[in-house]
Amino acid sequence: MQAKEPSCARGGLSTTVCAWGGKAFFAFLFPVFLLVLPCASHAWNAAGHRQIAALAWEEMTPATRRQATALLRQHPDYARWRNRQRENDPDYGVFLEASVWADEIRADPRFYDEKKGSPMPRLPGFPDMRRHGGWHYRDAGGGEIDTRLAQLAHDILHGQRAAKTYALPWLLHLTGDIHQPLHTGGRNDRGGNQFHVRAPSAKREKLQTLHAYWDDLPGPSGQRGASLARRLAFLRRLPPLSSVESVGDIRRWFAESRALIARDVYPQTRGATLDANFRRRAQYLAAQRLRAAGQRLGRWLNYLL
Ligand SMILES: [Zn+2]
Repeated sequence: MQAKEPSCARGGLSTTVCAWGGKAFFAFLFPVFLLVLPCASHAWNAAGHRQIAALAWEEMTPATRRQATALLRQHPDYARWRNRQRENDPDYGVFLEASVWADEIRADPRFYDEKKGSPMPRLPGFPDMRRHGGWHYRDAGGGEIDTRLAQLAHDILHGQRAAKTYALPWLLHLTGDIHQPLHTGGRNDRGGNQFHVRAPSAKREKLQTLHAYWDDLPGPSGQRGASLARRLAFLRRLPPLSSVESVGDIRRWFAESRALIARDVYPQTRGATLDANFRRRAQYLAAQRLRAAGQRLGRWLNYLL
C-alpha cells in the first residue's frame, strides 16, 4: 500500500543486526536495539507482499511451515485470511494473506491511528489496537522499521505464544517493506511521497508520487492463484541472490535499500515523465528486491520458528 505522512520526531538510529549466529547471541545484542524509537510510511502493494511470502514458503522447511501455520491459526483474524485466500493449499494461502495484514489494518475501523485517532477498545487476542504506521519505514521524518523488525524477531524467538502470534504477520510484512527502497528514506520527501512523476504506463493516475509508482511495480494488487503462480515463475528465474547468506541481517537489508535510493530509484528531476526504459529498469530492480526479501524471509523463519 501507499505511504502516508510520517511526521514525528527523528531518532538517531544505532543499529539493528539480527544475529544469525545463534539465539544466545541475538538475546545478548537485543537491548541495544531498543535505544531508538521514533515513529510513521508504507510499501509494496498486496501483490508484492504475497509474492515475497510465496517465495519464503518455498524456502521454509516442512517443520517451519507447520509452526507458522499453527501460530496463524491462533490469530484473531485467521478466519478472514482463510476466507480470502485462493490457493489450493489453504495453509499456504493463509500465509500469503497474513503478509498483507499490516497494511489492511490501516483502513480497518477496529484499529486506530495513534497520532490522530482516539483509542479503540482492545479486542481479544490483540496486545493493542494501534495501526502502528511508524513501523513500516524509517526516513528523515521518523519511523522505526529496522528496530521494530529486531523486536519482532525477538518476540518470535523468546515471547509467549500470544506475542509470537501477533509478531508473525508483522514480521512477514516488514521484511518485505524494508526491501522497498523508498521505505528507508534517504531524501527529505517522505519516502518519495512528496516527489511527483508522470507515468504514462502506470495503472493508477498518470501524475503520481514516486512512492506509489514503486509500490505498484509488483503487479495488480489482487493477484492470486494462477496469475500469482506465473509471476513467481518469473521471479524464480532471476539470478540467485548472492547475499542470501545475510539472513536476519536487518542492517544490511536497510543499507542495500538506501544505496538503491542514492543510485537507481529516482529520476533526475521532479515531475519527470518516466518512460518505458525507466519502467523496465525499475521493474527489474523491484523484482530482484522481492526475490531477495522472499528468500531471506523464508530462511530467517527457518531459524526463528
Ligand atoms: Zn507496509
